[in-house]
Amino acid sequence: MSDNSLRVVWVYPDLLSTYGDQGNVLVVERRARQRGLQVERYDVRSDQPVPTSGDIYLIGGGEDRPQRLAAERLRRDGGLNRAAGNGAIVFSVCAGYQILGHEFINDLGEREPGLGLLDVVSTRGEGARCVGDVLGDIDGPLGLPQLTGFENHQGITHLGPSARPLARVRLGQGNGTGDGTEGAYNDAVFGTYMHGPVLARNPQIADLLLKLALDVNALPPADDRWYEALRDERIAAATQPA
Ligand code: GLN
Repeated sequence: MSDNSLRVVWVYPDLLSTYGDQGNVLVVERRARQRGLQVERYDVRSDQPVPTSGDIYLIGGGEDRPQRLAAERLRRDGGLNRAAGNGAIVFSVCAGYQILGHEFINDLGEREPGLGLLDVVSTRGEGARCVGDVLGDIDGPLGLPQLTGFENHQGITHLGPSARPLARVRLGQGNGTGDGTEGAYNDAVFGTYMHGPVLARNPQIADLLLKLALDVNALPPADDRWYEALRDERIAAATQPA
């Protein structure tokens, strides 16, 4: 952070941006501006270097081939690892989440190295794709209301000892290992399988990212309640019998 200005980096929208994940950037921008911050947004295509001076980096989901290409380019570029090493906040969704781990299975069926920013390893689930609405309880120390989102992934993700689960599912699969965990985080690096876009359905998580970036415990309230109707509607839809 410098001069009241927050630098938000949207990583590889040309490869990783399924199911409206770009909405995550819009929500972070909006909630930052509502708190009087200036926002500089950088959309970094996969043929461009990832800047290392960002405050918050956002990465979306993607299909299997673009996911492999993104992992190759991010490893080669090194900018995201350098930024995270400098303490930047990183928030990733689905394919982006798998890329932040140690490895995942790529579209060729091979083990593809990730960036090692999260202590997780992803494999391919043998069963049906994990698809559908998800509700979960966000990890207690984060102190946030329940998680809502939807998932669509074949990969399943195993947490290592230094990763904490972002949430425990009440409905849906999340990490898909059968242990009830969903997503992972470690200090300022977050991963989730949730689309929605997840920060539109859960602006409390966007505020958590802002608090971490600003290094504050609380933010001024945002004059904003539109998301409550969206949350209520999606939670009701997920819990009502079909
Ligand atoms: N390709 C990955 C999988 O199927 C991620 C999918 C996604 O980002 N929606 O596991």
